[in-house]
Amino acid sequence: MTDQNVKPLVSDFSLAYGRQRSAIRELFEYGKQRAREVGSASIFDFSIGNPSVPPPPQINEAFFSLLKECDPLTLHGYTSAPGDLEVRKAIVDQINREYGCEYDEKSIYVTCGAAAALSITFRALSITGERNEFITLAPHFPEYVCYVEGQGAKLVVVLPKLPDFGISLEGIETAITPATRGIILNSPNNPTGRIYKTEELEALADLLHRKARDIGRPIYIVSDEPYRELVYEGLTTPFIPNIYKNTIVCYSYSKAFSMPGERIGYALVHPEADAARDICDAIAGSARSLGYVCAPSLVQQVVRLCATVKPDLASYDLNRRTMYEGLTAVGYNCVKPEGAFYMFIEAPGGDAQAFSDYARLNYNLLIVPSDSFECPGYLRVSYCVSLERIKSSMPLFDMCLKSFKREMKIK
Ligand code: PLP
Repeated sequence: MTDQNVKPLVSDFSLAYGRQRSAIRELFEYGKQRAREVGSASIFDFSIGNPSVPPPPQINEAFFSLLKECDPLTLHGYTSAPGDLEVRKAIVDQINREYGCEYDEKSIYVTCGAAAALSITFRALSITGERNEFITLAPHFPEYVCYVEGQGAKLVVVLPKLPDFGISLEGIETAITPATRGIILNSPNNPTGRIYKTEELEALADLLHRKARDIGRPIYIVSDEPYRELVYEGLTTPFIPNIYKNTIVCYSYSKAFSMPGERIGYALVHPEADAARDICDAIAGSARSLGYVCAPSLVQQVVRLCATVKPDLASYDLNRRTMYEGLTAVGYNCVKPEGAFYMFIEAPGGDAQAFSDYARLNYNLLIVPSDSFECPGYLRVSYCVSLERIKSSMPLFDMCLKSFKREMKIK
């Protein structure tokens, strides 16, 4: 029996995050439940960013050959806390060759995806006993709130420069305070698909240098890059450390290698960043304190063998064009994505939650309202599904828009 004098004790922070589910995952779980009830063919789930193209063939080959050829005790054993040395060397070699940099194996910490890389970076940059703030641009990946607040810091959200969802220098300048430790950038962006251009990154770098002098402390860019290779129409993603040395890249193989469930990525500190060695040590300490040491060993080895492998972009590009052309043709206003695999759509009538609910309940269309991206009035569609699903959803999107407008009396 519970002793009435002893109050249960759990962390308020963890309880709140455990109970408030993410809008994306809520829809995803709803979709799975509804599919069990009415069959998956009737559910059009555009909620989550689960890659829809198989991993590049080299990935499975690497898994098989490692399992067949390596000593199982070593293969499945603990690696060094920041990742196996040969794995780290293979990753930095690829980056150095591709972007003309000089990273070494001490600059990198291999993690369980971008989620862990971001969390340990925020913790590493937060100064004990002080107020710590990280600025990001809306719309932003909703999980940044937990990754930042989990380290006792505050996420400060700045509105983007419209109409193209660019970097608002004015907004960032106003938001910077002596507590600012970093600016979180995500390019190609989830959810807009926007890639920040070299010129706007250079202008941001100038601003950060100037503001760092004003506040007397460096301001780091935390560059969240799970979609770095997912780019279309011959575009490339500028490598931010080549523009601003005080950058920590948080990368993930989840999307490029179509293996989000395998949990592998890294945090990478520019060797000439201010206090680079201290940051690397603080990242190692943060990983240790959060229990994130030694990312999955087998998957590390897959990355070693496949560090230079690139994803096949053709299917996503075809999906992107089919979705964009289909939705605009029936009257949706969409941001044309340059990268990643999401499309940002103006919510008809302006109330994203209302439209998302209507589409879900009447047409089994699962699209994410933008409220948790802190940019109300939009919807996010993940087009990492099969082309056939996109094509067969188009009449539903059309009917949904027409009937919603009719019922809500929207012109
Ligand atoms: N950052 C962004 C912008 C994302 O979209 C995601 C996942 O969808 C993550 C971070 C987390 O990635 P990972 O699966 O590698 O932890």
